[in-house]
This record gives sequence, C-alpha cells and structure tokens, in this order.
Amino acid sequence: MALVVQKFGGTSVADPAKIMAAAKKAVARHQAGDQVVMVVSAMGKQTDALVELARGITSSPSAREMDMLLSTGEQVTVALMAMAAHALGVEAVSLAGAQIGIRTDSSHTRARIRSISTETIRGHLDRGAIVVAAGFQGIDQNGNITTLGRGGSDTTAVALAAVLDADLCEIYTDVDGIYTTDPRILPAACRLPSIAYDEMLELASLGAGVMHARSIEFAKKFGVKVLVRSSFQDGPGTLIAPDRLAAHRVVSGVALAKDESRLTIAGVPDEPGSSQAVISALTSAGITVDMIVQNVAQEGRADISCTVSTSDLPQALDVARRVAGEIGAAEISSQEGLAKVSAVGIGMASQQGVAGAMFAALAAEKINVHMITTSEIKISVLVHRDDAQRAVRAVHQAFVLEEAASVAGPAIDAAVIEDATVSPLEVVQRLEGMEDLAIEDCHLDETQALVTFIDLPDTPGVAAEVFGELGRAGLVVDMIVQSEPRDGKAELSFTVASEDRDLAATTARSIAESRGARVADMPHVAKLSITGVGIRSHSAIADRLFRPLAEAGINIDLVSTSEVRVNVVVAATEGERALAILRQAAGL
Ligand code: ADP
Ligand code: ASP
Ligand code: MG
Repeated sequence: MALVVQKFGGTSVADPAKIMAAAKKAVARHQAGDQVVMVVSAMGKQTDALVELARGITSSPSAREMDMLLSTGEQVTVALMAMAAHALGVEAVSLAGAQIGIRTDSSHTRARIRSISTETIRGHLDRGAIVVAAGFQGIDQNGNITTLGRGGSDTTAVALAAVLDADLCEIYTDVDGIYTTDPRILPAACRLPSIAYDEMLELASLGAGVMHARSIEFAKKFGVKVLVRSSFQDGPGTLIAPDRLAAHRVVSGVALAKDESRLTIAGVPDEPGSSQAVISALTSAGITVDMIVQNVAQEGRADISCTVSTSDLPQALDVARRVAGEIGAAEISSQEGLAKVSAVGIGMASQQGVAGAMFAALAAEKINVHMITTSEIKISVLVHRDDAQRAVRAVHQAFVLEEAASVAGPAIDAAVIEDATVSPLEVVQRLEGMEDLAIEDCHLDETQALVTFIDLPDTPGVAAEVFGELGRAGLVVDMIVQSEPRDGKAELSFTVASEDRDLAATTARSIAESRGARVADMPHVAKLSITGVGIRSHSAIADRLFRPLAEAGINIDLVSTSEVRVNVVVAATEGERALAILRQAAGL
C-alpha cells in the first residue's frame, strides 16, 4: 500500500464538475488500495476575487486580516471535495491547516512552515478515509491563521508528503507537465519527462509560475518525488527528482519574470559592510532581491544595484532611502518596466561558452541587456519588458529547447526514477523549523582571477562580442556580472582560472582598447561558495553570512546568488579567514 499526496490547483477545482473529476481521481487511487491525502486550492480565481474585495475596502489591509480572508477560499474547496468523495461512496474528511496542525511563523501573507503534526491525518488515513487538506494555510503560535504566499498550495502538498513520508506527491494542474518555458508564452515549448530539483528550484524562483518555489525546497530537502501532470488528460507528466537521476541538459528551461525593477544605490562608501547593510535591510524587510551587482569603486565610492519585483519596489525604495542615509550613500535611482530572462540547466556547469551563446542569441535579436548575473546552473539577463518575449524565444531557440525532451540522461526513464529511493538531506536534522535556511556546505576556491572592464560602451551585443572574443582566445569563463550602464557605459566582470590570468588580461585589454574601455584585474582572488537549499529567497542569508564578513573587515568584490548557492569573491589574502568565518556563521 502506497501513500500518495494529490494536489489540485485552482483551475482543477474551478466548478462542481471539476471538483467531482478531481475526487474521482483520488477515489480511484483509494480503491486501488492506496492511502490518499488531497491538497486543494481555492476554486478558480477565488483568491484573486478575495484580494479585490479587500481592495474595495482599503488599499492597505492588515496582513493578519488578509490571511483570515484568503484562507476562506481553500476552506470552501475542502468541504466540497469531501462531499464529492462521499457522493462517490468513499469516506473522506476535510481539514483546515489549523486542524491538521500546520504550524507556521507569524509573517502573515508569506508565512513559513515550522512544523506539521501527522497524528490527525494518520488517524483518518488509518481508518480508511481520504483526507482533504486545505492548501496554502497554517496557524501561528498564537492561533492566528496564516497563509504561505500566492501559489502556496504546492508547498502545503510537498510539505505534507515530506512529513508523511509519502511515496509520491502528484501535482494536478492545467498543463500536462513542466515545459522548457511557459507554453502560454511560447507554444514551441516542450514538456520535459523529468527535471532535476535544482533546475526546478531555479526556474520556479526565477519566474516559472508552474510550481511554488518553496515546494521544491521541501522536495529537495526531504527527498520527495514530485510528479506534475494534467487534471484534464492522462499522460506521463514530469517527474521532479534528485539531480543524480535527471538528464544533465546544458539548458533545461527558460524562465521569465516579467515585472522586475532595478534599484541602484549610488555613491556607497567602499568599505566592508556597506553593501551588506543595503542588501540586509532589504531582505530583512521581506523583499527578495536578485541580480546583486556592485561596481568597482571609483574615488572610494561604488554603486550597488539589484533587482526586485515591481510590486516590492515602493517598499524597497523606502528601505533603500533609509539605509542610504545611514551609510552616507549619495543617491538612489530605480527603473521599472524591466524583465528578467534566465536560462537554467545543471549541464551548464560542465559546458563552456553557454553564456556567450545566450548573449549572441540576444544580440542577433538586437535586444539590449541591462544587467547580467550568472551562477553555476543559471544565467540571468535583465532586459526591457517590451523585449522579454522575444528574448525568451531567442534563448529557447539558441539552445534548441523545442527538442529538449529527447535529450536522454543517465536515468531519464520516468519508471526508473519512480522506483528510486530518495533520502532526505543530512542538513534536515540540523533544522529547527522545516523551512529554515538549509546550508549544506561552504568551500574555498583559490584558483581564480577576476577581470573587470570599466567604461565599456553599452551598445546592444557588447556582451556577446566580448565573450565571443574571450571564447575564441580559448578562455573558460566562470562567474559573469554586468552592471547597469551609467551614462552609456557599463562594467563587466568575469572570473577565470588564475593559470589563464595572463591570457585573460591581455585579451581583455585588446578588447577594451578597441572600445575605449579600461581593464582592472586581480590576478588571484578567493571565491567562496556556500551551497544549500532555497538560499536566495531566505531573508536570513544576508544577515547570517554577509554581516560576519563585514564585521571582520572583509570586502566583497563580487557576489552571485542562486537558490542553491551563493558565491562571493574576496581578496586572495582573505580567503582562508573568510572561509573560517562563513563556516562558523553557517554552523558547519
Ligand atoms: P495551479 O492553479 O494548478 O496551481 P498555476 O497557474 O499556478 O496552476 O500553474 C500552471 C501554469 O503555469 C500553466 O498554465 C502555465 O501557463 C504556467 N507555466 C509557467 N511556466 C511554466 C513551465 N515552465 N511549464 C509549465 N507551465 C508553466
Ligand atoms: N489559492 C492560493 C492562490 O491562488 C494558493 C494556491 O492556489 O496555491 O495563490
Ligand atoms: Mg500554482
């Protein structure tokens, strides 16, 4: 007998007929002898409708009352779903988050799960009932109803699968699996038979709305196999599984975040701790920042830019103004109307020239790239929103993703993955709350050099030209960061193996000369990588890791973040000391 969690999203429970159809799926599984926990969302667009209702009363509703309001959507569905199962002749019971014992912190409208009791659910399963759990909601230590953030029912489902040690978590939705990009944006997108946790985590957090990113954190940490499939048609779906079981495609997907804004704090004193203060203040306010770029300091002052979602911009500006006052920064600027396009793939880590190929595809479409950041498994570019769709198409085409499904991997066969056992990560044992920041490891790479182009003219295609030339010179580039251009000039930094440093510096100088730019280079730098799960979206990271470095007087020269890794580059002489500080701060 297996235990299966089946989650049904809004469109899958939008009307009574769809609720009946969902109940039939659960009942069929139950009658086959399995234990079934259903997790359901609010019907159709009900959550949006509730948000609108609140807006009719006030533009700034209290977050606690918002949760009280929004949680009602799921409560309607659970009751109807249990009735549907009854109508099919099967015992079923509906349970709200509080009744299950889904305990969260108190950050209303974006609460994180601390613990889940299993007794109530197990009791009902053992007596032969289907349990119908309300998605998206929990209860804090004072008995207040909380919600997990929009799209959070996925997270409820995978978290329940984790604590119940379920054999499988099925996500029933309105697409028949995970596609190489949103099929609504690009019909040429193709369904992937399987995708690695790390890829799905990145794609989801970079804008692929198909899964709540935090659900994949749970899946990876607790070793839950997730199968995404259509509510409306039968098919194999997409299995989300450990990296070792998935195909190692160079690029598996392209994500689009279409409402991004850039925030720049200019004239920040170039001292350890200044950039940390900015990022830390933003993240402490619950704002997720991405694409953090700091320029090389000129006359003791640097600019720091990052991207935030446009809905967070007003709050981000308030926070930035306050911090700028405290640290004596000169000015704050922002730009709306941008979009972030990211290519994600675990095979990227072992393949050269991927970033160059992406920049070339964008250049061929004459799309101007505002900012660039990379990590081992993803490349993100910031473009104008009007260019976003074309950019997605260009990148998708460049990596031939319409044929991605046919790329075989070590164990791409879904049946193989379905049979494989997946264990929880060791780090889980050290966590106090289920959703706490999970840092797995921290290591030091002292074999890199850092090269920076200063005053590079910001013409469309410049990144493609630069990385094209570096590639032709035989250079393998690791981290890449390009700043937002100022007065038509941008900064572009990259790291290479230090044994290639001379070649890199000479090539860079000749590239720079022909464009009226300059080159600064650090022949030896220390790159520290902190690996874990859900790193970027946890607000604790800046405080926990950057602050101790700042307090020890260590300056960060370059940083790149992803959901599974933060890289920071510091002076070579500080490498060992920084490693010790980070390991201690991370509790390793
Ligand atoms: P549910 O209500 O079932 O939770 P969502 O609307 O949250 O469904 O997610 C499903 C939608 O996600 C799809 O209709 C699709 O437009 C969108 N989507 C975005 N990126 C992808 C992707 N890479 N693969 C599949 N669907 C995607
Ligand atoms: N009903 C909630 C929302 O629309 C949660 C979910 O559907 O996952 O965001
Ligand atoms: Mg969803």
